[in-house]
Amino acid sequence: MNRFEPMHFATRAIHVGQEPDPTTGATVPPIYATSTYTQSSPGEHKGYDYSRTRNPTRVMLEDALCSLEGGAACACFSSGCAATTALLATLSPGDKVLAYADVYGGTFRLMKRVFETFGVAPVFTEDTSPQAFAKLMDPRTKLVWLESPTNPLLRVLDIEAVAKVAHAGGAKVCVDNTFATPVLQLPIKLGADYVLHSTTKYVGGHSDVVGGAIVMRDKALQEKIAFLQNSLGGVPGPFDCFLQQRGLKTLAVRMERHCANAMRLAEHFREHRKLSRVLYPFLESHPDVAVAKKQMRGGDGFSGGGGMVTIVLKDGWEATKRFCSSLRVFSLAESLGGVESLCCHPASMTHGSIPKEIREGRGITDGLVRLSVGIEHVDDLIADVEQALGNA
Ligand SMILES: *Cc1c(COP(=O)(O)O)cnc(C)c1O
Repeated sequence: MNRFEPMHFATRAIHVGQEPDPTTGATVPPIYATSTYTQSSPGEHKGYDYSRTRNPTRVMLEDALCSLEGGAACACFSSGCAATTALLATLSPGDKVLAYADVYGGTFRLMKRVFETFGVAPVFTEDTSPQAFAKLMDPRTKLVWLESPTNPLLRVLDIEAVAKVAHAGGAKVCVDNTFATPVLQLPIKLGADYVLHSTTKYVGGHSDVVGGAIVMRDKALQEKIAFLQNSLGGVPGPFDCFLQQRGLKTLAVRMERHCANAMRLAEHFREHRKLSRVLYPFLESHPDVAVAKKQMRGGDGFSGGGGMVTIVLKDGWEATKRFCSSLRVFSLAESLGGVESLCCHPASMTHGSIPKEIREGRGITDGLVRLSVGIEHVDDLIADVEQALGNA
């Protein structure tokens, strides 16, 4: 156990994996830019032989994420999708993976267009209830895949209840915790076996690095994931690990501000005449507010609805286009979770490849806009959305 292990979340975020360098005393450990390690005699080394397998800068990041998610082990990857690839590769031909239909687009693509061709069948439910998951479980279901809150409708799934259903059927549970982060949600505590991250988003936090991670509930799962991390080879370089670790150190304070700004924005625009809906998990009008308030409580007991707010404009595509192009503080860009506010129009950007009828059937209409609320001054963000709605 690390000497910071019993301490608070915010302290561990800064110190776990960041012991001063023993040789120089450097308070921030150096970036180990090396692919290989010199051995004293054949096969005799200090635990490192080749950087695809293990690199000290990566191990520091893995230790920190592992501690924050409350897991037993962690493996980092070159992207969230590389982490997803490794996790799905734990399955064998004939196995099934069960997921809520609105999973991240890249996850859907991996399940449907890559792993299905290797005989791993994806099964999707359009219903978020644990009963719906129970109905679709069968003896071949080996993995249940959850995202909460979802993208872009911000539905909240009851992780604890779905994990019970999955475990009763003999399946493992993976929760993609990218949106909530361990500051707001601790899936392993709620029963998950794996926690997946696109560290590109809130963990990195500054829109300047792409990365992914898997945290495992127990050591028994570690061997297989470490084997796949090394075999598939989608590992992050040491510079990327350094950036992500630096991001982690401010994750707790950033998330508090993301949540406060997003809540203010959601409340401010809740009854705006140009909007038909404002979706935010902690608004009383949200369909899953009860589960959200029960479940979204993470490190140090902090509770919040996250930094994402989805709004739906009453008028159609042309008005929405004018709104998106009029924003000045918010940038119109894919991705999320950085300090700067971003705006995304799913129908034409992230969800553009889904046929219109299916997309609209799921509520992703032309008027729907997803906001990643940054940590700028909230009054400037409100004023920006207000003037853009004026132009819409
Ligand atoms: C971005 C994202 C991913 C994929 O991560 P990359 O780092 O882009 O490969 C997976 N899940 C969620 C929820 C995401 O937002």
